Amino acid sequence: MRAGPPPAGGEADAHWLRRTVELSRSCPPSDTAFSVGCVVVADDGTVLGEGYSRRDDPGDHAEEAALREVAADDPRLAGATLYSSLEPCSSRSSRPRSCSALVLATPVPRVVFAWREPALFVDCDGAERLRAAGRTVVERPDLASGVREVNAHLVG
Ligand SMILES: [Zn+2]
Repeated sequence: MRAGPPPAGGEADAHWLRRTVELSRSCPPSDTAFSVGCVVVADDGTVLGEGYSRRDDPGDHAEEAALREVAADDPRLAGATLYSSLEPCSSRSSRPRSCSALVLATPVPRVVFAWREPALFVDCDGAERLRAAGRTVVERPDLASGVREVNAHLVG
């Protein structure tokens, strides 16, 4: 299984967010949805799942594609960090459950993202919802430029 630096220490968050941006470059293009990458990393640096938008289905979000690769009862989820290039959504048109709700259905205690979703398609309060539910949420706007670049056709 792929592995890397254990989350939360030093440069680990930057390392894994760069990986999400790399993954987002594989997204099938869309004029109506963001291209996003996501990786779920155990506390020892083992990758539990990876995903990107529209990977298995045109309605796929990166977070759900990544979480699909992890068994729901995997005990490592309780110490894992979910990295997403974009703030996890709080509402969506294509599926009943938002990515924030999907994360809240897991024990994943920590979420790190680079770019706060611009109010382009829906108004997002995913970070607030996760924090309100007691999850640790880390924003790294210093790493958002790569995410903006991948989505330049949407936001100019
Ligand atoms: Zn989503």
